[in-house]
Amino acid sequence: MAIRYLSGLQWNLRSLIVILASFIYLITLANSFYASYRVQKQTLIDTTLEANQAYAAKLASSIDIYLRVAQQQLAYNAEQIARKFDNYDELLNESNRLRLQTESFNSVVIVDAQGVVRATSPEALSIRGKHLKTQGALQALQEKRPLISKPYVSSTNRLLIFISQPIVDQNGQYLGYVGGSIYLKEPSILNKLLADHYYRDGSQVYVVDKSERLLFHPQQERIGSTFNDGLSGNQNGSRRLTDEDGLDMLSGFAQVPMAEWEVVAQKPTESSLKGLKYQMRDVIINTVPLALIALLLILWYSKIITRPLHELAQGASKMGELQSDARIGTVNTWYQESAEIQRALMVGVNLLHERIGKLHQDVQTDPMTALYNRRGLEQALTLWETEERPFALLMLDIDHFKRINDTFGHDAGDRVLIWLASLMRDNSRSGDLLCRMGGEEFAMLLPNASVETAQQVAERLREQVANTPIEGIGTITLSIGIALWPEHGNSFKQLFKLADEQLYQAKSSGRNQTRIASKQPQYS
Ligand code: GH3
Ligand code: MG
Ligand code: MG
Repeated sequence: MAIRYLSGLQWNLRSLIVILASFIYLITLANSFYASYRVQKQTLIDTTLEANQAYAAKLASSIDIYLRVAQQQLAYNAEQIARKFDNYDELLNESNRLRLQTESFNSVVIVDAQGVVRATSPEALSIRGKHLKTQGALQALQEKRPLISKPYVSSTNRLLIFISQPIVDQNGQYLGYVGGSIYLKEPSILNKLLADHYYRDGSQVYVVDKSERLLFHPQQERIGSTFNDGLSGNQNGSRRLTDEDGLDMLSGFAQVPMAEWEVVAQKPTESSLKGLKYQMRDVIINTVPLALIALLLILWYSKIITRPLHELAQGASKMGELQSDARIGTVNTWYQESAEIQRALMVGVNLLHERIGKLHQDVQTDPMTALYNRRGLEQALTLWETEERPFALLMLDIDHFKRINDTFGHDAGDRVLIWLASLMRDNSRSGDLLCRMGGEEFAMLLPNASVETAQQVAERLREQVANTPIEGIGTITLSIGIALWPEHGNSFKQLFKLADEQLYQAKSSGRNQTRIASKQPQYS
């Protein structure tokens, strides 16, 4: 009602179904797009995180293996060196071999227990005989155990990390240490391990130590500086995070157990999700044909659903018409509710037609005698006229009826009228038309009756009336005027007038008699 009021037009069921179904379909579609977008996005993120973690783990493992091997090499060398610690040439050989054969270190240094450099490789370092006071050197002297240092700036002004092994002689006396340096800002084993990563889409690999100092980073100038990557402590795993540079990153990280370093492989979230746009476009393109088919199906199905109701509604709007029951009855009501409405409508239509028929009858009938009234007579005559049916008209009037009323009362008068009506019925055939014209005046129309027949019927009735006493009243008499159609009139009006004249003649000639029109009247 509200919709109708607002829009000013009447919606039909089909449009409503189409709108509702399309609306629900589109919402579902949008919802599934959104869900698919969310799932694909999450999948991309998860995949990237996983890949980065795996990559970081692989790199961490390579670095760890490298560090282990480096320590083993140094340990082996330390043993060799312990035997010839006072022979400079041997020490030089050992340190050269360590540096050149393995490519593990950028430089190698052998230092005695006082911290004085005994040999270096390359020799060009020219720190032989000097007292090494760098962070790594002091730590090695102090702790006298295998070490991997923090990054620091060396005496030759290079940023490096220092891996060292103590040198102990057969008696277990500490002689010094042998150590290899990895230059962080120059080509090194670490660069070799990490630098061939694919960097183009903004992804990167870096390595930090326990105190978040960068040991490796694609931007070389950042190496050595601290970098807060949003990860706290050494761990393995992956996470989406915003790093110190404010970049939204998908980071995988893995620990290097030997050195407590952290390898991080990461890719900007944005570039990871770049493909999502195209994936969603493909999803939409693939969905469009199906969506169109679905909409067509909605249109078609809504028609099928609403057709019975639509046709029933049309039938119902013309329920008063004669053919409406046939129209409603032939609607194909293929589902339960429409069939029930159809049944109810059919009952309604039949009831309506019955009621209309009854009304017709009421309008055409005199309630007291149940004979036709004037209107009923007129309608019957219209039918006879179209059928061109000849008939005899008998006009009947009770003689001195007023007296009966006056003498016996109005109710007695009514009783007489009812009695006469039943007598008329007794004296007629089924095709005859019996009518109360008004008051105590009646008419009988006898189809296809000849003058003789009409006269016979009239006389028989008149005599029967005259000879049959009515209880408490006595006998009454009738006067009757007869005219024949079409012999005696050009019109029904004329015919009735003529019969009335004959009736009047009968009255004026003494009543209780029948008069018949004898000829075609001269007047029109
Ligand atoms: P006539 O012989 O000339 O026909 O005399 P009449 O008295 O029969 O004729 P009149 O037309 O003078 O009187 C008809 C009376 O019929 C008058 C009226 O009171 C009475 N009447 C008309 N309709 C009814 C009715 O439905 N019931 C009763 N009881 N009387 C009726
Ligand atoms: Mg009268
Ligand atoms: Mg009368």
